Amino acid sequence: MYRIKKTLFFFYKALKHPANAIKHILPLKRLINNLFQIYGIRYQLPVLDSIILCVTNFCNAHCLMCDIGLNHDKGMNILQRSEKREMDFELLKKISNDPYVLKHKPFFNILMTEPLLHSRIGAIVKELKENNYQVNLTTNGFLLPEKAQELAESGLDYLQVSIDGPIELHNRIRGIDVFRKAIEGIKKLNSFNAKPLININCVITNLNFSYLTKLVDKIEREGILINQFKFQFMYFVSEAMQKRNNVLGVKEMMQSESTINKYMMPDKVNIDILYKELQELRAMKPHNIQQIRIIPDIRSKKELRNYFNFKGEKMPYYDYCAWPFRQIAVKTDGVVLFHTRCFNYSLGSLLDGSCVRSVFFSLKAKYFRKQFKRYKFCLPACTRCCGVVSKVS
Ligand code: SF4
Ligand code: SF4
Repeated sequence: MYRIKKTLFFFYKALKHPANAIKHILPLKRLINNLFQIYGIRYQLPVLDSIILCVTNFCNAHCLMCDIGLNHDKGMNILQRSEKREMDFELLKKISNDPYVLKHKPFFNILMTEPLLHSRIGAIVKELKENNYQVNLTTNGFLLPEKAQELAESGLDYLQVSIDGPIELHNRIRGIDVFRKAIEGIKKLNSFNAKPLININCVITNLNFSYLTKLVDKIEREGILINQFKFQFMYFVSEAMQKRNNVLGVKEMMQSESTINKYMMPDKVNIDILYKELQELRAMKPHNIQQIRIIPDIRSKKELRNYFNFKGEKMPYYDYCAWPFRQIAVKTDGVVLFHTRCFNYSLGSLLDGSCVRSVFFSLKAKYFRKQFKRYKFCLPACTRCCGVVSKVS
């Protein structure tokens, strides 16, 4: 029943945005892949659905849930390391005009570290829009007031701003005085005629689980227009998950602990309070926020207890990552990974003369996919990663 509901919702979403559906959802291989994922059939056809661009490798925030912000020698901070602080425009043009990319029209996601720190961020988005790609950019919002006009003029489709709580709490979690800047930037964007759809993303952790509805009220009082307010459970790799993962001995898929530190402790989430907050969130009907979405969409206290737990046991339904078959992430220096929180496994480099197709179908990529199939599309280090948690829902 659950899967049928997911299928119906999947087609409902496609019907709501037919132009997007024709390009991105209904082409046969993509449709097959999505249905296989919803129904848990462990098979995927490699086809490039999305490209993550890491356009900078440094950040201006110090978020308590982030290995990069805290400069910890693990997790995403290892993956983001590269010689280049920002991606060269020539590399971006090469990706944008690559024949395989032009043919498959993947969704571009500009995220990780802080993309607004790139000196030519507006030009990057403009270049992608000239080739008719859909583009999302995720930011902590600190530079949004000064970059809002540039972004509006670039033709950006979606802007995701991270906001994790009311003013003081958010600033404490993010390690900088950023709440008011993010709101000011959104207000500025709201004032332009042509502007991106604005989504807010809140990461639910042990620091803010009891402030979720208060945050929606606060944003509503600011009078800003929001397309989607996403509440996303914290992603992490605990020591227990790391050990279970690495004992498998697959050298390409070794993983380090990630996100867990003295501030971030999933088992400190009070499940009774979180359960109540999530129920209230689902019932809220704010005027200025079109949609509230909770990721993953799990609804029982038992499942919530399983999620916010250092053990990181597999969850029903959310146990299938398809990204190694559908996505690449390009770092500032042209090195290609599958994802920004994935295993530290390079598929190749776009700066050594390779094109996107040759990297996406490289022997290394194929080898990884073969190994990944052996582990049923979800290793012990994958169970709290966005790859499985944000599965078609
Ligand atoms: S803004 Fe993003 S990259 Fe920067 S510290 Fe925060 S979570 Fe990490
Ligand atoms: S869930 Fe997917 S993206 Fe995440 S670590 Fe596993 S394979 Fe990589």
